[in-house]
Amino acid sequence: MIKTFLKQQSGPMTEELVQEPGAFGLGKVPRRLRPAATTTSICGYCATGCQLKLHLDDDGQAINLSPQAGYPVNLGMACPKGWQALDPLEADDRGTTPLLRDADGRLRPTDWGTALDTFVDRFRAIRQEHGPDSAAFLSTGQIPFEEMAFLGCLWKFGMGFRHGDANTRQCMATAVTAYKQSFGFDAPPYTYADLEESDVIVLVGSNLCIAHPILWQRIMRNPRDPRIIVIDPRATETAQAATQHLQLRPKGDLPLYHALAHCILRDGRIDRGSIERTEGFEEFAGFVKDYPPESVAEATGIPAETIEELARTVSEPGKRVSWWWTMGVNQSHEGVRTAQAIINLCLVTGNLGKPGTGPNSITGQCNAMGSRLFSNTTSLVGGHDFANDEHRAKVSEMLGVPLERIPTQPTIAYDEILRAAEQGRIKALWIVATNPFHSWIDSGRLEALRDKLDFLVVQDMYHSTESARVADLFLPAAGWGEKSGCFINSERRIAPIRPVRRAPGQTLSDFRIFRLIANAWGCGEMFAGWTDPEAAFRILRDLTAGRPCDITGIEGYDHLDREGGIQWPLGKADPQALKAASRTVEAGSKPALHRRLFDDGEYYTPSGKARILFSPPARMPEEPDDEYPLLLLTGRGTSSQWHTQTRTGKSDILGKLYPSGAYVEIHPRDARRLGVVANQLLTIRSRRGEMVATAYIAPTVQPGQLFLPMHYAEVNQLTHPSFDPHSRQPNYKACAVAIVA
Ligand code: SF4
Repeated sequence: MIKTFLKQQSGPMTEELVQEPGAFGLGKVPRRLRPAATTTSICGYCATGCQLKLHLDDDGQAINLSPQAGYPVNLGMACPKGWQALDPLEADDRGTTPLLRDADGRLRPTDWGTALDTFVDRFRAIRQEHGPDSAAFLSTGQIPFEEMAFLGCLWKFGMGFRHGDANTRQCMATAVTAYKQSFGFDAPPYTYADLEESDVIVLVGSNLCIAHPILWQRIMRNPRDPRIIVIDPRATETAQAATQHLQLRPKGDLPLYHALAHCILRDGRIDRGSIERTEGFEEFAGFVKDYPPESVAEATGIPAETIEELARTVSEPGKRVSWWWTMGVNQSHEGVRTAQAIINLCLVTGNLGKPGTGPNSITGQCNAMGSRLFSNTTSLVGGHDFANDEHRAKVSEMLGVPLERIPTQPTIAYDEILRAAEQGRIKALWIVATNPFHSWIDSGRLEALRDKLDFLVVQDMYHSTESARVADLFLPAAGWGEKSGCFINSERRIAPIRPVRRAPGQTLSDFRIFRLIANAWGCGEMFAGWTDPEAAFRILRDLTAGRPCDITGIEGYDHLDREGGIQWPLGKADPQALKAASRTVEAGSKPALHRRLFDDGEYYTPSGKARILFSPPARMPEEPDDEYPLLLLTGRGTSSQWHTQTRTGKSDILGKLYPSGAYVEIHPRDARRLGVVANQLLTIRSRRGEMVATAYIAPTVQPGQLFLPMHYAEVNQLTHPSFDPHSRQPNYKACAVAIVA
C-alpha cells in the first residue's frame, strides 16, 4: 500500500524517495552551500548552544570544524564534545535501513514502504482496539524544535493519541514547573552575559566546569572578580575551583535556603520594591521564622555561622548576586520547591531583572528549551495551555486542526506512561532519539516492561542503542550535521543548525519521517504547509503571537544568522496585543545581543506579580540503613561524555579522555574501613540491582557516600524511582546502596 502511495504522490519528498535512492536522509546538502568554504551550525550536545564553523569540501561536505569566533555565546570556544561533533556521524553502527523484527525474533532489514505500512497498521489497530490512551511517544531534547513540534502535532492532532513525553522530563521539568508556578510562564530570566556581570555567583548542584565548560569560561572572563560559591555535596571540579565550597548533606539544600531567607528577613536585608511585585510574602515571612540557622545545621551539614555569613553575602546591598542551578536541584524528590526557594531569595533581595542577577536554571540538552515551547507535551504547541479554551481555539485556527482533535489536558508524565505500560494500559511506544533502556531511573524495570508491549518502535541514528536493540521496528534517522532546524539554548537564544554531511544509506531526517507517517496515516493534508523545517518554523513562529515567547519578529533562518541568534521574545506588529511579550524590545527594532526578562517587575501571572511558593522539606525517599548503609550520588563524569554515550562513545579522541569502564568515587575513610584499595573492582548493590565499578579513592565525596557517573548503562539499575510531586522529574541523585563482597 505504502509503495503505491509513494509513487502516486507528488512533491519533493516523495520524488526523492522514489526516484533518487541516493538522496535519502536529506542526502543532498543544499546547493547554495557548495560555493562556500564554510557554514555555521549550533553544537548538538548541550544547551550552552555554542556555534561551530564547519569547513566544507567542494561537495558541501564538512571535513572539519572550529568554534565560531564572535558568536555571542561561545566567543570562539568549544569543549571537547563540540570539537569532535562530526565523529559520531561516521560510526559503523549507524542505522542505514529500516529494521523489522521477524517471526524468529530477529531484526532484519526492510524497505521504507514496508516499515511505514507496519507502523501505520500496528498503531491504527492498537488505537481502534484500545483507544487514544493506549500508546505514547517518548522523545528528546536533541532534535530541532520544528521536528519536535511535528511529532507532537502529528501524534495528537493527526493520529489521535493523547500521551507523549520527552527525556527533557529527566532534565529540566523541575525548572519548567518552578518558573511556571512562580512567574506564570516557563521563563528563564537571564542572559549569559550575566555570568560576566555578577559580583556573587552561586552555583547550586552544578558542576559547571565539566557540564557547561564554556559557561565556566564566561565566569572566568568576569571583570568584577566575582565571589564564586558552590553548593554541592561533592567536591566537584567546579567546587575545587570556586572561592567557597559549601559541602552540604545531600538534599540538604531546601532547609538551607529557608534558613538563608530567615536570616535575610530577620536582618531586613530586603528589597521592598521587588517584594511589592510579589504575592505571598507575608506568609513566607511567617514560614521562615521557623528556620533559624541552628535548626537546620544538622539537616544541611552546614554550621550556623556559615549560613549566617552566606546570608550576608547573597543579600549585600549594591551587590549583584546570581544563582545558577542544574541537575543537583532539578533531579530531586523536592526539586520544584528547592528551585522556588532560590527564586524566593532572588525576589526578596531584588536580584532579578537586572544585570548580573537572577534565579537561573541552566538547561541540559541542546534543544530542551525548544521542547519546552514546541513539543506539544506538557504545554500546547507554541507556549499555550491545553486547558485554556482560547488557546486551543487559536491553535486550531492557525494550524487548521479541528478543535475537537486538540486535547484539553497535557500528557501524563514519563513515569506515568511507563507505569501504564507496566500495567498493560499502554500497549505501544514510539521512542524517538532517546535511549530510556539506559537512561531511565531504575532501568531494570524497562526490561520487564518490554515484554508487555505489543509494539515498540525506535527511531534513532544508531541501531545499537539499548532501546533500539529491543525494538519491533527500527527507523533510521539522520542526526545533527545531516539536517536543518533550530535549537533554543538555555538563555532563550534561537539559532539554526545546518546539514553538512550526507546521511548514510536510506536514512531520513526525523522531519521527513514524520511527513511520511502523516501521509501514510491519512492526515497529510493537516501538514501540507510543513514542507521543510523552515516552512514549519514560520508556522510555529506565527503561532507564538501574543504569548510570552512571541517570536513573530523573527523573519527566518537568515535573520537568526545575521543577529547571532535571537533570544525570545521578539514580537512585532501591535505592541498592545504583544504587551507582555514584546516589552523588552521595541517592535520591529533590532534586538539587543543580550536581553533578560522581568526588568520592569512585570510577571506573566494574572496579577502581574511573582508568586512566592514554599513548602517544608520532605524526607529523602530512600535513606541509608543497616542493609544499604551508603548513599549513592550520580552525575556527569567528564566534559567528554554525554548522557548515555550514544554519540560521544563513537569518538576515538573523546574515548581517550575518560575511563572506559564505570568507576566509583569512595572516600578514603570508607575505603580503609571496608578494606578497599585503589582500582579494586567493587560490586555495588541497591534494592533494585547491582553493578561492578572500579574503586577511585578520593575525598571528593563525603564519608558514607559514593559517586557514580551516569554514562554507564549499569548505573540506573541501582537508582531509586522517586519523583518530584510537582514536576514528576526523577530523583536520580540519591539512593541507598551497599558494597558487597
Ligand atoms: S557540548 Fe555544549 S559546551 Fe561543548 S561545544 Fe557543544 S554546546 Fe558548547
